[in-house]
Amino acid sequence: MNVFQSVESEVRSYCRGWPVVFDRATGSWLYDEDGRGYLDFFAGAGALNYGHNNPVLKRALLDYLERDGVTQGLDMHTVAKRAFLETFAEVVLGPRDLDYKIMFPGPAGANAVEAALKLARKVTGRQSVVHFTNAFHGMTLGALAVTGNALKRGGAGVPLVHAVPMPYDGYLDGESFRWFERLLEDAGSGLTRPAAVIVETVQGEGGVNVARDGWLRMLADLCRREGMLLIVDDVQMGCGRTGPFFSFEPAGITPDIVCLSKAIGGYGLPLALTMFRPALDVWKPGEHDGTFRGVNPSFVAATEALRTYWRDDRLEKGTLAKGEQVGRALTELATAFPGTPMVPRGRGLARGLALPSGELAGQVCRAAFARGLLVETAGPAGEVVKIMPPLTIGEDELVQGLAVLAEAVRVVCNP
Ligand code: PLP
Repeated sequence: MNVFQSVESEVRSYCRGWPVVFDRATGSWLYDEDGRGYLDFFAGAGALNYGHNNPVLKRALLDYLERDGVTQGLDMHTVAKRAFLETFAEVVLGPRDLDYKIMFPGPAGANAVEAALKLARKVTGRQSVVHFTNAFHGMTLGALAVTGNALKRGGAGVPLVHAVPMPYDGYLDGESFRWFERLLEDAGSGLTRPAAVIVETVQGEGGVNVARDGWLRMLADLCRREGMLLIVDDVQMGCGRTGPFFSFEPAGITPDIVCLSKAIGGYGLPLALTMFRPALDVWKPGEHDGTFRGVNPSFVAATEALRTYWRDDRLEKGTLAKGEQVGRALTELATAFPGTPMVPRGRGLARGLALPSGELAGQVCRAAFARGLLVETAGPAGEVVKIMPPLTIGEDELVQGLAVLAEAVRVVCNP
């Protein structure tokens, strides 16, 4: 029995599928302690859009540490935080004509979601929040209440309340959106007017389910008409994962509240933002507090990432082109094994291949790992093989990883 088994809790998860001890990482590669390389098609669950130990970001971080820049800054004004806010306003908000106040709610995605839910309730004076089937918003109690997965919900230990599930786009055949509209219109429906609706434009953990732009626009219209705040949780799909910086851009909607985390820290460092229309900024000073709301090395890496990758559209275009390439490869795979129904899904570099069962998808991930590729499952039964390489992955590496994936599918589906 190793120290992970004897000392670390049973709750550990990713390490069970990839049972080696990792030591180094660079670009799209992780290396175990014996020096074996693994191509990373998981990218820290979306925290590593710019790859492992990105040299440009590393230089900025090393310079900052070497000059004894502040590391722990609570929410004090620091040079690093100022540079981040200025750069975010200049590079992200300004060009998109977005007028948002930025709150640092604590470092995790769940922190960003908790703050969004609290704020929506505070602003509207209402309690319930609508979420969608197969949504994933985090493990803290508020975020868990708006998360679908039964296993995760089971861990709560208390009732998960003030949350109402509605069918996500494509969940039901036909007019799934109509159900929600009807409940709001009908005084006899039993639905108490919600404070807000929280949505992912592409559900990552829920199985790489993509909401259509038209569906998102209808949702935004409904929120406006009915006085519900629209929260887009862009924790996993933001920062360019689907192509544009924000995943909601192609739909042409402007959410009232946006949650960001994961890749915003640039280097895989902890950072989260909750952003909202200035009129919603009704917080009293210190009303939502926390120690790790000023991890300054995260600001440094985040600022450098914005300057390096978001001052032009090269990364966005590259992501879209690579995403198309992955999409084509998955479509080919789906047609190559007619005996095993497979459905390719996704947008940008958030892709998935839905298999008939979680068992088969798990086997594909294990076969890929044995051949040096890290891929994980998603979806309610773990039936979707999820493909999320760093956005900066090289052309050769993408081709190599897709070939390994095809081989893994072949040995599982056509042994
Ligand atoms: N929201 C979404 C859409 C996520 O995908 C995740 C994590 O995967 C979270 C929130 C929670 O983020 P964290 O694990 O950093 O708390």
